[in-house]
Amino acid sequence: MNWLAKRTTTFESSGIRKVFDLGAKLKNPINLSIGQPHFSVPQPVKDAMIDALENDKSSYTPTQGLAALREFWIDNLKKKYPSHDDRNVFITSGTSGGLVLTVLATVDAGDEVIFTDPYFVMYDPLVKMFGGVSVPISTYPDFRIDVQKISDAITPRTKLILFNSPANPTGYVASRKEVEAVAKLAQERNILLVSDEIYSMYSYDSEFVSPAEYNPATLVLEGYSKTHAMTGWRVGVAHGPSEVIEQMLKLQQYTFVCAPQVGQWGALEAHDVPMDKSVADYKRKRDMLVEGLSNYYELGNPSGAFYMYPKAPWGTATEFVQKAIEDYSLLVIPGGGVFSTQDTHFRLSYAASDASIHRGIEALLKLAKR
Ligand code: PMP
Repeated sequence: MNWLAKRTTTFESSGIRKVFDLGAKLKNPINLSIGQPHFSVPQPVKDAMIDALENDKSSYTPTQGLAALREFWIDNLKKKYPSHDDRNVFITSGTSGGLVLTVLATVDAGDEVIFTDPYFVMYDPLVKMFGGVSVPISTYPDFRIDVQKISDAITPRTKLILFNSPANPTGYVASRKEVEAVAKLAQERNILLVSDEIYSMYSYDSEFVSPAEYNPATLVLEGYSKTHAMTGWRVGVAHGPSEVIEQMLKLQQYTFVCAPQVGQWGALEAHDVPMDKSVADYKRKRDMLVEGLSNYYELGNPSGAFYMYPKAPWGTATEFVQKAIEDYSLLVIPGGGVFSTQDTHFRLSYAASDASIHRGIEALLKLAKR
C-alpha cells in the first residue's frame, strides 16, 4: 500500500532549501539569498503584539479576520477604489494562504494558469498540487511583459492569470502601460486576474500601479511579511470580487481557520508606522549593486522588491552558484527549477547589511572575470 498521494510526485521540494542547507555549513558566508527584510519588526508593532499576548488575545479570530483590521481594509479600499462596488476583503494566513485559497477556489484538474517566467517559487508547485497546468510565459531577457504573448497563451481552459509586480525574483516593476494591458486583456477574455502585490511598497523608480485600477474584478493579494518584516506572523489580505472572496472564505474555515491573532494586532498597528526610511535604504542598496555590477553582469531592470536576477556570466546558473558558494561562500539562488524553466540567471537579494553587499560585489566581480 502506497501511503502517499500522487500529487506529492507532481512537484519537487524547493531548490532554495539546498542553498540554505549548504549555507548553514559555512563559516561567515556572504548571504544574499534571503527573501525577507533584514530589519526588525518596527517597535510599535512589537508593542502591539506584546500587548495582545499579555492580554490573552491568543484565541481564534473570526474566519474573515479581526473586526478592527477588516474594517480598516474596507474603509481603505473604499477610498482607493470608490467605483468598485463588488470588492470584498478578508484577512489570510500570509499572502501564501491567500494564494493557496485562490487556487483551491478556482482551479479544477486540467485547468490552466498563466504566469510570467521567471516566477515566484510557489506558483508552479501550487498549481500542480491541485491538478492544474502551469503555463509559464518567458519574459527574458529584460523581463518586460509582452501582453501579446499572454494573449496567445489563453485557451478555453485558462482559469487564472497570476500577476506579480514588483516581482520576485527579478525585481522588475511593470510599467503603467503593461499593467493596463494585462488588466484589460483579462477583462476582455473574462479570466480572473490575480495580482500578488506583496512588494507594492518597494517600487523605487516609478509609482506602483495595481491592475485593479483598470480591472475592477482583479483579485488582489497583499501582506505584511515584506512591508513590516513580519514573515513569521502570517498575516495577509485578499480582496476582490465577492463571489470569489466568499468561496475563499469558506475554504479558509476548513483549512487555515484564521490568521494568527497576535499577528493581526501587529498588522493593525503597522498601518501607523511609516516605512519610508526602510524603502529608501533598499533603494540605496539597489543602487550600490547596480553601480558595482552593471559593467560585468546583465541585471535586467531591478526597480523594486529587494531582488535582482543577473545572468550568469558563464556556465549554467546552477554551475555558477556552486562555484560562488565553494570559492567565496557567496549564497545566491540559481533560477533553474526554482524560479524559471531555464537555468541561466540567479537571484540576488539585497535585504542584507551594506558589509555583506560590499563583500558580495567583490566576490561577483572576481567570479565574472574568471
Ligand atoms: N508572493 C511573493 C511574490 C513572495 O515573494 C512571497 C514571499 N516570499 C509571498 C507571496 C508569500 O509571502 P507570505 O506568505 O509570507 O505573506
